[in-house]
Amino acid sequence: MVIAIGFEGSANKLGIGIIQDGVVLSNPRHTYITPPGEGFLPRDTAKHHREHVLQVLQQALDEAKINPQQIDVVCYTKGPGMGAPLVSTAIVARTVAQLWQKPIVAVNHCIGHIEMGRLITGAKNPTVLYVSGGNTQVIAYSHRRYRIFGETIDIAVGNCLDRFARVLKLSNDPSPGYNIEQMAKRGKKFLELPYAVKGMDVSFSGLLSYIEERAPQLIKAGEYTPEDLCFSLQETVFAMLVEITERAMAHCRSEEVLIVGGVGCNKRLQDMMEKMAEEREAILYATDQSFCIDNGAMIAQAGWEMFKAGQTTPLNETSCTQRFRTDEVEVTWRK
Ligand code: MG
Repeated sequence: MVIAIGFEGSANKLGIGIIQDGVVLSNPRHTYITPPGEGFLPRDTAKHHREHVLQVLQQALDEAKINPQQIDVVCYTKGPGMGAPLVSTAIVARTVAQLWQKPIVAVNHCIGHIEMGRLITGAKNPTVLYVSGGNTQVIAYSHRRYRIFGETIDIAVGNCLDRFARVLKLSNDPSPGYNIEQMAKRGKKFLELPYAVKGMDVSFSGLLSYIEERAPQLIKAGEYTPEDLCFSLQETVFAMLVEITERAMAHCRSEEVLIVGGVGCNKRLQDMMEKMAEEREAILYATDQSFCIDNGAMIAQAGWEMFKAGQTTPLNETSCTQRFRTDEVEVTWRK
């Protein structure tokens, strides 16, 4: 029996989760929500994490009904992510690991998403689409690595959606992407947008500039509603993602596809992916917002796997890094 606690704070979600052998005992989260039209900046986000981390930690312990001595390993997000928020959370993980005299494990955030998705859905060896505000990657496991088959060459798909939400001054509560999704459901008229798939990679920045520039005029002239534009944007970027995911699945002869990351709870993306999967006689796996969106349990789960495989991180190596690619980690816990 191994109990792991995970600390996540790489972006605007502060999460602490406790897992005991694949069972989520608790997973509270506190999200930094900025006013409409504004994104979250590193310094303010770190301040948010510092202000709430002790309360969220207490909540995680209370809900799990365990005391710190029962914990076997402390896990935290090493990266990728925003520097200041990462550090503000890691410092608490390091502190409690020393106070409680527990080993510590540094976790790659992307791998946290993959391992949590596998745990929750039961997918064995899926092709993974990881889509969030900071990341866009198509990943498959091969020879002890999560290999990146395709990725964005500029901004993440979630960043593209978030920034368009700012143009429309949509609320950031619960998230800009969620509000775009609701608007898109009421969209009817499709605006053709630049479609940028380059081999296995995708690009969103040109598309974003294109729609950002034209949106105010198109709305003012009554040619397109904000709903139409949300609809057009979603259809275009999701089609790009499904295309590169399908190509990776064909290459790997994959019979499973798993969507993880904050954008992964978008129902329209799930529907489009499911249609593609059906045509290939493959199965789509996805999770709801509690596990898709950044959370502490996913860091605990990946850390639990690493710890069980005999890995711990020496205290003097428990740093953070803004850039930390998924394929840098040797996957010691899978066959
Ligand atoms: Mg994430």
